[in-house]
Amino acid sequence: MSKVLATSEPPILEVKNLVKHFHVGGGLFGGKAGVVRAVDGVSFFIQRGETLGLVGESGCGKTTTGRCILQLERPTSGSVIFEGADLTTVSPDDLRRVRRRIQVIFQDPYSSLNPRMTVGQIIAEPMAVHRIVTDARARAARVRDLLERVGLLPRHADRYPHEMSGGQRQRVGVARALAMEPSLIICDEPVSALDVSIQAQIINLLEDLQADLGLTYLFIAHDLAVVRHISDRVAVMYLGKVVEIADRKALYDDPLHPYTQALLAAVPIPDPELEARREHAIVLGEVPSPLNPPSGCVFHPRCPIAIERCRVDVPELREVKPGHWAACHLA
Ligand code: SF4
Repeated sequence: MSKVLATSEPPILEVKNLVKHFHVGGGLFGGKAGVVRAVDGVSFFIQRGETLGLVGESGCGKTTTGRCILQLERPTSGSVIFEGADLTTVSPDDLRRVRRRIQVIFQDPYSSLNPRMTVGQIIAEPMAVHRIVTDARARAARVRDLLERVGLLPRHADRYPHEMSGGQRQRVGVARALAMEPSLIICDEPVSALDVSIQAQIINLLEDLQADLGLTYLFIAHDLAVVRHISDRVAVMYLGKVVEIADRKALYDDPLHPYTQALLAAVPIPDPELEARREHAIVLGEVPSPLNPPSGCVFHPRCPIAIERCRVDVPELREVKPGHWAACHLA
């Protein structure tokens, strides 16, 4: 079922020319000093109620992008405008207040849940700290509510994280995020650590919650198969840059960037016969280091159709078709 998005309204989140460089080496223990260009000029927006998938291989900068949005990393430059406020310039007090409306669901619920707290305490704590629900009885009732909302039972409030399965723990992570009454949730590889059958359940849960509560998601994943079902639009990142961004259908049916084409070619087809007959035309090899990125188009050493110009000129992210952007000289 397609969603109706309020596209005439300003986006809930707008990331403009976001840059995050890390300085490495050259310290007490030596090593060559250099700059890791983890995020190198990333721009995108998300409409309220929308899900934007952000996809790329490990080390492409997608998680750092998420951390810069949350201001867990301060960007080197660029802006992060959330509900009209630029989070890179607001006062610390305003940041705390606004930041509450952006929550995150992590990949590994086990390491993100305090093992010494019960599930009830884990969900109630942020509501107490941020004075969302001040009365202890009302908080306990809200915990029960949230547990049911994420498909758990009120009695799970007395359990500890280690007494639950991976899928149940991720549901607790979702309930803890919802406790803060967010409008935007950054889902950072939320199903990558789960079995495939459980992955579908968590994705369905996130979709149901979005429909009920009008949530907006930035859904970070390392492969295109995971975000296909849930995303309205998909942005593909490579070595710190967005190389393609489009509506889900356009991106999967007609990918314009050779890197997106390679990622799609790597997604297995569920039918084993079809999969066996399919040509995996593009062998990608290793991702170059963001410490010393290639000149020109950063994808040129791995690109099967690179031309001489690609070694020299950086391709701009441009609108090749309406709403479909790609950073490739040949797109
Ligand atoms: Fe390949 Fe050149 Fe396009 Fe980069 S700009 S993706 S190297 S064809």
